[in-house]
Amino acid sequence: MTNPRQFLCTCGTMRWEIAQTAPGTHVECYCADCQSFARHLKVDAIWLDAKGGTEIFQTLPQHIRFTAGYDRLSALRLGPKGLIRWYAGCCGAPIGNSLPHMGLPFFGAILKPGQPGFGPLVCHANTAAARQPVAQSGMFRALFGLLSRALPAKIAGSWRRNPFFSNRNTPVVRPEILTLGQRNAARPPQGR
Ligand SMILES: [Zn+2]
Ligand SMILES: [Zn+2]
Repeated sequence: MTNPRQFLCTCGTMRWEIAQTAPGTHVECYCADCQSFARHLKVDAIWLDAKGGTEIFQTLPQHIRFTAGYDRLSALRLGPKGLIRWYAGCCGAPIGNSLPHMGLPFFGAILKPGQPGFGPLVCHANTAAARQPVAQSGMFRALFGLLSRALPAKIAGSWRRNPFFSNRNTPVVRPEILTLGQRNAARPPQGR
């Protein structure tokens, strides 16, 4: 059976997939940073939903596999602190978020709104920044999911398989750090 968890960037250069058996938590994040990432890449019309939400499948990096265009993998950070945000350098399609180091294995794979194959949404996070009112839910479930995946991966040693970091805990491409001006320009408009 073909794995339904396939991804293709907008221009078709990059392909990646998430293992069909990979455990994960399907969340929607409305935070201003996730919106800023899509807006900076100028892909917010495709990748944010009407409420400004980003659909994410939180899983382990070891379950992500690139099958084409890996050399176009690019990364940015909205500032000197915070997540590394990975995207397709060819066309700006978002790929996902990781922590700035690989020690706590975490990958938040970004889905297109409504993308099938990842089960129901079980968490609505950071809803204060949503464009329309959304009730926050499932935050504990998301945190518990993260820890319940990370601990066995640490014990088994499988966390070292990570397509985003070299064995020396260095990102495989150096993330561009946005200037304050770039970050402010990408901020979602305030207020509803
Ligand atoms: Zn592309
Ligand atoms: Zn977010």
